[in-house]
Amino acid sequence: MREKNKVDFNIIYPDVLKLEKAELHLHLDGSLRLESMLEIAEEENIPIPGKNILAIKKQCVFEEGIKSSLTKFLKYFQFTLQFLQTESSLSRAVYELLEDLHKENVTVAEIRFAPHLHQLKGLTLDKVLNAVIAGLNKATNEFPIKAGFILCMLRGLKLKHAHEVIEVAEQYYGKGVIGVDLAGDESKYPLELYRNPLIIAVKRGINVTVHAGESGPVEEIRKAVFEIGAKRIGHGIAIIKDPPLIQMLKEKKVALEVCPTSNVQTNVVKSYPFHPVNQILQKEGIVTINSDNRLISNTSISKEFSKMIHFFHWTIDDVKKVIDNAFNASFMVPGSTSKH
Ligand SMILES: [Zn+2]
Repeated sequence: MREKNKVDFNIIYPDVLKLEKAELHLHLDGSLRLESMLEIAEEENIPIPGKNILAIKKQCVFEEGIKSSLTKFLKYFQFTLQFLQTESSLSRAVYELLEDLHKENVTVAEIRFAPHLHQLKGLTLDKVLNAVIAGLNKATNEFPIKAGFILCMLRGLKLKHAHEVIEVAEQYYGKGVIGVDLAGDESKYPLELYRNPLIIAVKRGINVTVHAGESGPVEEIRKAVFEIGAKRIGHGIAIIKDPPLIQMLKEKKVALEVCPTSNVQTNVVKSYPFHPVNQILQKEGIVTINSDNRLISNTSISKEFSKMIHFFHWTIDDVKKVIDNAFNASFMVPGSTSKH
């Protein structure tokens, strides 16, 4: 029997579903379909426990209400990455993700991934890029959705890899790639370590977003924007500790890519009611709402907005305003990747 007042985290309000939306912060390796993982495992002889969807789910999906950590989160990615090591699986994953987003009326989608993590079976970076672009082209030809890729430099990998990401981003810029990101554990690997490649990216006119102020300090946000030149901030929720910085980012039109469920699951925020997103919005920060990882977090952009309505009593006008923020902050440039 259902408990009284129990929150249904899977609820999607129809008014939210039907609105056109832009999703700016979404990791490919955290957003696969379970059924496809099972099929790819069979096709590519990937050893998986149980050989059924429930068994796969246990390896890579957070159960609602169970607390975890960024470390556990990263282990889930190790599991899902096994299914993204061939050209066909990469194309398929991108196509299916865009199809899923289209079903939620997402019309602008920015998908991110770290190219070096897809080389376990020997794919070159060119093959990785061409495979994801093929998936994107197929989807954008079929569905009214604009899409582009943000390539992630990873904290913890060698600096050489970060420089390679910039090279590849430049090579494929406007042909599917729309920006670069710095992702991974910011408490272990501060932004400072990646200053050089990030500065090079900015100098070359590549859009830069950075995961900052997620589990790390607010200074990382300030550095990313004012010393590096990041145009957006991934998460950025630590900004609540520095209200004047909210205003400074607003003046520079720097949006925050907020992913509420992800923050609760990685234990950065105690629970939804304690999430600072609403306060940041009230202090006029440029908030956008995103899912981060559809599969791993068992969420979607529509579920995220529905949670905001539930926990913070957002009206549909509040939702529309935040959606507008995302459209305005998108790295998609006309004619870069889509015909629509
Ligand atoms: Zn992220």
